[in-house]
Amino acid sequence: METTLLLKAYLKRLRLPTIARDFEKLGTEAARTNLPYERYLLTLLEQEVLQREQNTLRLRIKAAGFPVLKTLETFDFTATTTLSKPEVLRLTQGEWVDRAHNVIAAGNPGTGKTHLAIALSIAACRRGHRVRFFTAASLVTALSEAQAAHRLSTLQKKLDRTDLVVVDEVGFVALPKEGPQLLFDFFARRYERRSVLVTTNLQFGRWPEVLGGDEMMTGAMLDRLTHHCTVLTLNGESYRFRQSQKATLPGAPTGQSSIGAEPVTA
Ligand code: ADP
Ligand code: MG
Repeated sequence: METTLLLKAYLKRLRLPTIARDFEKLGTEAARTNLPYERYLLTLLEQEVLQREQNTLRLRIKAAGFPVLKTLETFDFTATTTLSKPEVLRLTQGEWVDRAHNVIAAGNPGTGKTHLAIALSIAACRRGHRVRFFTAASLVTALSEAQAAHRLSTLQKKLDRTDLVVVDEVGFVALPKEGPQLLFDFFARRYERRSVLVTTNLQFGRWPEVLGGDEMMTGAMLDRLTHHCTVLTLNGESYRFRQSQKATLPGAPTGQSSIGAEPVTA
């Protein structure tokens, strides 16, 4: 009894909560099965380490601020013909983040760009990387508010410590007038130092016109972004649209739309 109490006190002091929770149950089991002492200790330590890793991952995913959680397990690669599955699987290994390379997911609305960005980011979290998720608009707001409050360099330093920043929906909504310059500085600062994952519905040729800012600046931004970069193209009909068509037309052939859109080969 005293041994148990002392063990609990020491485990608490050493901050080993999983071992504190399991050692008695496992001890009874070990005695029953004649498990060697070392194996008993090993099992307890493994459980503690595993639990810590899971906690860290959970915190990392929370800190990333994803709008929803998506993984590749639920991603249907047959929905888009322009995306290479082996390429995406290679990106889940996270080597591109180690090398401060970039990914751009480009394509029409509803084709899974954000889904893919979140799935790749969660894969990066699993590999121990720190991630932050922004939309282009929320990033510009954060930078511009920090600038107004004379805290820009604090925010920049914080982002410097983030291995991967997702900038979702570039070109989706018009940015405020200081937007292009702030985005340009942001990308320039990360160039060859830290990774970005950009999603966009814009063809590169339209970035200057849609983002605003001058052509030279946008050109220089694209140049940096695309230098060490994997471009994933997601084209085709909106997955959302296809799902809603399937839901509203239970009797219709798969993917057949009622409003005259092209039939979809699923
Ligand atoms: P985008 O960012 O390109 O506009 P999203 O990633 O937001 O598109 O996708 C819209 C919805 O459709 C989401 O719920 C997403 O999970 C789903 N979706 C899109 N493409 C796929 C796909 N290929 N497989 C599974 N779900 C998909
Ligand atoms: Mg999106």
